[in-house]
Amino acid sequence: MAKTIAVNAGSSSLKWQLYSMPEEVVIAKGIVERIGLNDSIFTIKYGDGQKFELVQDIENHEVAIHMLLEQLIKLNIIDKLEEITGAGHRIVAGGEHFKVSTIIDDAALKLVDDLAEFAPLHNPAEATVIRVFQKLLPETLNVGVFDTSFHTSMPAVNYLYSLPKQYYNDFAARKYGAHGTSHRYVSERAAELLGKPIEETKIITCHLGNGASITAVDGGKSIDTSMGFTPLAGLTMGTRSGDIDPSILPYLMDKLGLTDIKDMINILNKESGLLGISGVSSDMRDLLEASEENPDAGLAIEIFEDRVRKYIGSYIATMNGVDAIVFTAGIGENDADMRRNVINGLTWLGCDIDESKNNVRGEETVLSTENAKVKVFLIPTDEELMIARDVEALKK
Ligand code: ADP
Repeated sequence: MAKTIAVNAGSSSLKWQLYSMPEEVVIAKGIVERIGLNDSIFTIKYGDGQKFELVQDIENHEVAIHMLLEQLIKLNIIDKLEEITGAGHRIVAGGEHFKVSTIIDDAALKLVDDLAEFAPLHNPAEATVIRVFQKLLPETLNVGVFDTSFHTSMPAVNYLYSLPKQYYNDFAARKYGAHGTSHRYVSERAAELLGKPIEETKIITCHLGNGASITAVDGGKSIDTSMGFTPLAGLTMGTRSGDIDPSILPYLMDKLGLTDIKDMINILNKESGLLGISGVSSDMRDLLEASEENPDAGLAIEIFEDRVRKYIGSYIATMNGVDAIVFTAGIGENDADMRRNVINGLTWLGCDIDESKNNVRGEETVLSTENAKVKVFLIPTDEELMIARDVEALKK
């Protein structure tokens, strides 16, 4: 039976999911954490609720993948490595080059490396993992599935910053967006729920997790998205600031005695957002708990909801209408209060949430009232399945 593995490599982690294709059945999944540190954690979940866990030093991605392939056989999840005929690799930055998921040959791999400038923590790790796959599984088809591909359909009106155009021409400085695989997956599913060809739909997809972004999907194509040159832009996120006035950077650097802009960007990436405002946590569950006593936790939640609402409003204007709004990812799928508070601010635009349906977690649901002009959906995202499907489509 043909198997496809969907791989999501971070700088110190490796998440994966093994599918039997084309049935789209998950036969095992796992995560390797703390790669390159001591006491790395290696976990596999398989069968009906079985779990394999190992804590030992795993010095690099090559060792991690070696262990993974070995354990898949030892645990009888596969009989031989040749069964894994496809590997789909999530890649963060595809620049303007990778407009769709692509078979990764040597030339493509070099391009992934060359794009490291756009995602210094991610692209090099992803390229390394692909090289290890090429070495250990020489017959397996490697496919790159890029976070940015779905957004390459954005028109210049939306991807250009209002900077000297030369900076785009000379340095490819523009908006690229992210979370494209998730936005593509849930927008396709939303069109199915609308019962219309996707070409005839206007959909706003809200991927609200630790990282968060909103996309305007017109006729099945991303035409604008809230993340920017990097994932730092747009909404208030777990630890990222989202949109700010760049003039505040030199002002704050002066006050904080910082001389390296990288330290300031680090604050915007890691110490801001929900964490920065609340002073409590980057995790929405913690904030919901803390908000009863801590007004700043409540304020962080309000700011988060405000930014989500504003982006939805602006994308309704961008598309001159909307058929459906989709909530997905950790906060989008689980936080009923957030969904209600966001949608209740959009009633004038034709949204109306059905309270009796909204009290749900992680299950595909139509949340809007029967007669609402705009449908509101909860659609659990599944980036790994989308990756496996893309690999399948590229197998002969
Ligand atoms: P990522 O994949 O970007 O790390 P997730 O999509 O897993 O993030 O989302 C994580 C976020 O989802 C966290 O802020 C977490 O608190 C939030 N979340 C998970 N469950 C709930 C819940 N029941 N209520 C509110 N927020 C939740």
